[in-house]
Amino acid sequence: MMNRDEDIHRSCVVIDGHCDTLLELYKHKRSFWEQNNHCHLNWPLLQMGKVNLQFLAIYIEPEYKPYGALCRVMELLDHYHTISSEGEIQLKTILKKEDLSLLAPDTSCMYLLAIEGGEVLEGKISTLRILSKLGIRCMTLTWNQRNKIADGVWEKDSQGGLTTFGREVVKEMNRIGMLIDVSHISEKGFWDVISQSNKPIAATHSCCAALHKHPRNLTNEQLAAIKANKGIVGINFYPGFLGEGEITIDTVIEHLEYAVSVAGIDHVGLGSDFDGIDKTPLGLSSPADLPQITKKLIIKGWSREDIRKVLGGNYVRLLQNTLP
Ligand SMILES: [Zn+2]
Repeated sequence: MMNRDEDIHRSCVVIDGHCDTLLELYKHKRSFWEQNNHCHLNWPLLQMGKVNLQFLAIYIEPEYKPYGALCRVMELLDHYHTISSEGEIQLKTILKKEDLSLLAPDTSCMYLLAIEGGEVLEGKISTLRILSKLGIRCMTLTWNQRNKIADGVWEKDSQGGLTTFGREVVKEMNRIGMLIDVSHISEKGFWDVISQSNKPIAATHSCCAALHKHPRNLTNEQLAAIKANKGIVGINFYPGFLGEGEITIDTVIEHLEYAVSVAGIDHVGLGSDFDGIDKTPLGLSSPADLPQITKKLIIKGWSREDIRKVLGGNYVRLLQNTLP
């Protein structure tokens, strides 16, 4: 017999807006289908956590930037299809609004393909359109450094916003139905995207600067802007963004609750960053631990409806408003 916590978790569509697992699998020749594959995230662990949609970001390592990024992304995208063909079941990729109707609390995990770093475009809008035809539905405009779209958060002195090309990219992403991810972008770049985008955006894996001052975290003003934009902030599980000292699942809950207090219950989700981070919070080391988040929220007195929104409902709405 299931207890109440498990019952609530099982009744929700669960969505994680960011992980870098594809690179880990490819680089270290690990099997996605095996639970003990030394990755944070794999097929058995996603089923154990009852995850229904996992964003799979293709992270571009610095040695492939600026030139070589597109080719590297092709290798990793090809690897996604290789994984799918080698498994007992085919991986289902979310491509359009109608696919969202396939998402249900009891379905096995589906995937949304993303790219972490606008370097992939190598300065060409045509590349963006072709990547969309290849199934990419989300792109993080920058990583921490400057690229042809904007500066990343580590460009502390310049903090440049969207370039002319960056503005074109935003416009075209809006038009073709690719979700704009503003995690990693400079603050000026963030505000430019907010003013330029006519669709909701996401910071797929970012935390709250008010709880822990870090250039990768979002200020209250940014969280409020995401609310006004009808977007989402996905709370990152990286201890370095969450705080100092011992970081546990409770610290993640603190950031979730804080983000909700500023951005509102309709604009917060999960963005684990699994396999993109070298440490995980105590009690939250893989998707199999996600039901523990639900349990903590129940103990905190959250309603079933609010839990449903943060676990995945908000992401479903965002994708309804952005996908082609
Ligand atoms: Zn990242």
